[in-house]
Amino acid sequence: MAKIAWIGLGNMGVPMVGHLVRAGHDVSGFDISEAAMSRAREVGVRTASSIREACAEAQVVFTMLPKGEHAIDVYTGDDGVFDTAQPGTLLIDSSTIDVESAGRLHEQALKAGFTFIDAPVSGGISGAAAGTLTFMLGGEETAVASAKEYIEPMAGNIFHAGAAGSGQAAKIVNNMMLMISLQGAAEGAVLARKLGLDAQTFWNIAAVSSGESWAMRTWYPVPGVVDTAAANNEFRATFSAMLAHKDVGLAMQAAEISGVDLPAAKTAFNSLEQLLEDGFAERDCSMIIRTIDPEAPGLPE
Ligand code: NAD
Repeated sequence: MAKIAWIGLGNMGVPMVGHLVRAGHDVSGFDISEAAMSRAREVGVRTASSIREACAEAQVVFTMLPKGEHAIDVYTGDDGVFDTAQPGTLLIDSSTIDVESAGRLHEQALKAGFTFIDAPVSGGISGAAAGTLTFMLGGEETAVASAKEYIEPMAGNIFHAGAAGSGQAAKIVNNMMLMISLQGAAEGAVLARKLGLDAQTFWNIAAVSSGESWAMRTWYPVPGVVDTAAANNEFRATFSAMLAHKDVGLAMQAAEISGVDLPAAKTAFNSLEQLLEDGFAERDCSMIIRTIDPEAPGLPE
C-alpha cells in the first residue's frame, strides 16, 4: 500500500480520501482550514501541519482545491508541492481548474522531474461518498496508467480524455451542460408549481419521461421530492453557486477563445451571477430557482 498526501480536504476531498484510507493506503492530509482537517481525521487521515510535512514521504500527491489560483499556489508556491515532494512523485490534481493553469502545472511539473496528470471529477458529493466518481484524466499514457490504481477506490468510471489539460477540457464542457440542465429543471419546477401540479407527482412523471436529467434526478430544487437535493436543507451547498459559476465561466472563456457563441450557457451563467450578487455564493447552485421565482418553497431568508 502507498504513502499518499492529500491537499484540500473540503466537501469533496474528505469523502474521496476516506476511500483511499479504507483501501489500506497511509494518507497524510493538509488543509488551511482546521475544521476541514478535523473532518479528515474522522475518516482516518493523519493530518499534517504543512504541505511539506504531508508530502515528505509521499509516493503520490492528490490535490482537491477550489480554483486554478489555489492549485498554482499549492504546487508552485514556497514550500509548495514542487518544492517539497520527492522528485519522481506522481502528482494528481483533481480540482476543476482552467485549461491554461493545468497546462502550466504540467509544464512546470515536467521541468521539476515529476509525473503530473489533471484528473477532475464529476458526480458531486454523493458520488464522492459512494466512490462512484467519473474521473477524466489528461496527460501521458504511462502517467495515466500508473495513476489508475490509486484512483480506482474513488471511481465508478476512469477515462483518459487525452493529452495534458484534456481532463479539464472535458470537465468544463460537462459542467456547462449540467448547469444548462439545472436551469431547465429549475424553470420546470417553477412552471409546474404555477400550473398547480403536485411537485412529487410531476417529478415522478418527468423522471420516466424525456424531461429527465441528472440535475433533475439529483438536485430537483423543491423541498421534499429528492433525498439528495439541497432544497431539503435550505440550499446549504452540495455544490456551491460560487464553484458552479466558476465552471460555467471557464466554459464561456474557452468558448470565446474558440470563437463559438453559447446562448444557453450564458443564461445559466447569468442566473449564477445573480445568485452571487444577491449574497448566496456559498449556497447550493440549485438555488438558481430563486432567480426565476423569489417565492419558491424552501429558500433561506
Ligand atoms: P471546497 O471549497 O469544499 O474544498 C476546497 C478545500 O481546499 C477547502 O477545504 C479549502 O480550505 C482548501 N484549500 C484552499 N486553499 C488551500 C491551500 N492553499 N492549501 C490547502 N488547502 C487549501 O470545494 P469542493 O466542493 O471540495 O471542490 C473542490 C474542487 O472539486 C473544486 O475545483 C470543484 O469545482 C470541484 N468539484 C466539486 C464538486 C462538488 O459537488 N462539490 C463536484 C465535482 C468537482
